[in-house]
Amino acid sequence: MNLHEYQGKELLKSYGVAIQEGLVANTVDEAIEAYGKIKEKTGSGFAVVKAQIHAGGRGKGGGVKLVKNEGDLKEKADAILGMMLKTPQTPGGMEGPGKLVKKILVAEDAYVPSPDECDEFYVSVLMDREKKCNVIIYSTEGGMDIETVAEETPHLVHKEYIDPTLGLQGFQARKIAFNLGLNGKAMKEMVKFISSLYKAFVGADASLFEINPCLKTGDDRIIAVDCKVTLDDNALYRHPDLAELRDTDEEDPTEVEAKEYGLNYVQLDGNVGCMVNGAGLAMATMDIIKLSGGEPANFLDVGGTADAKRVEQAFRIILKDPEVKAILINIFGGIVRCDRVAQGVVDAYKNMGNIEVPIIVRLQGTNADVAKTLIDESGLAVKSAILLQEAADLVKEAVA
Ligand code: GDP
Ligand code: MN
Repeated sequence: MNLHEYQGKELLKSYGVAIQEGLVANTVDEAIEAYGKIKEKTGSGFAVVKAQIHAGGRGKGGGVKLVKNEGDLKEKADAILGMMLKTPQTPGGMEGPGKLVKKILVAEDAYVPSPDECDEFYVSVLMDREKKCNVIIYSTEGGMDIETVAEETPHLVHKEYIDPTLGLQGFQARKIAFNLGLNGKAMKEMVKFISSLYKAFVGADASLFEINPCLKTGDDRIIAVDCKVTLDDNALYRHPDLAELRDTDEEDPTEVEAKEYGLNYVQLDGNVGCMVNGAGLAMATMDIIKLSGGEPANFLDVGGTADAKRVEQAFRIILKDPEVKAILINIFGGIVRCDRVAQGVVDAYKNMGNIEVPIIVRLQGTNADVAKTLIDESGLAVKSAILLQEAADLVKEAVA
């Protein structure tokens, strides 16, 4: 699950990480009010207005604007709120439709009063799956595309691996600050920043923190000016307060609906819909679809209870995708009996009425033969298979 920048900053702040302070606004009036409070606090009229969408690169698309006074603020808040913001990271990139901006963050201009004395760094925390531990990636080249920096000047991107038993150690935080070229107060501030950032990462069960830019201000404070936060969905049950921050407007609507039904669904761009029980079998099924010349249209794990209701919900979700030319149902009857699943398929099919794409059902396991008879005798346009190869051949025929 991804957080908005303003939510991520609140999370960081609760762990003692210094941030660029700001207030979120849903309307121009709220933005003016927020601006008033910020001005009162900083004593300066300089602020920044930032579109809150789940995508980076907002600056490039006109979603981050500096303001100097209230008139300025009003004009820019009005322009950004309600705009379809295109960034290199929104669906379809700069050529795509963009994302609707519903909220903005009004924040203090962190670079004032001495922008020339500011330094922008890059800091991220994530899991390194090969090394089997968390890693802090950092660079002096913040503010811009870290991908470009990594490609053109890889020696400027550093990594610090964190031992999972020991956690982040003092010398590691100091090494990071040193490699970023800091000393004196800024060095101490960076050590504090990195330590509390790592505490927040572990404490919130996050899978990604990306602070770009992480700013050294003119008076040597270190603050997060931007943050991208991804939390581990599987750990959200431990953080009901964070789970509430989910913004379903920002997610794929079909995936959101599937989640409500307890289905594990990921939209892909192929032509064969899959309905499978178990993630491992789902992956294997996607492979077999590819081997038989099709492309999976989705990943869908219906879980353990493949009854008529579940199967029907899964059908509806798969059929929302106009690209689907065939559906392959591949269920292993271990805990659930194959004949119950078959009955579920038959019932769901009848309930739904007009399914026009060919359906191939492969049921293996307990009562597989009973299930096959059930389907073959149902009179429906459903083809059954027991062997995976038979199913694959039927898929090939269906999408040919
Ligand atoms: P992103 O484009 O989605 O990554 O959004 P950021 O929050 O990183 O903002 C884009 C860029 O705007 C940053 O890299 C900064 O250079 C700049 N920026 C952000 N906040 C401020 C600010 O308070 N003052 C100034 N002068 N620049 C800012
Ligand atoms: Mn950024």
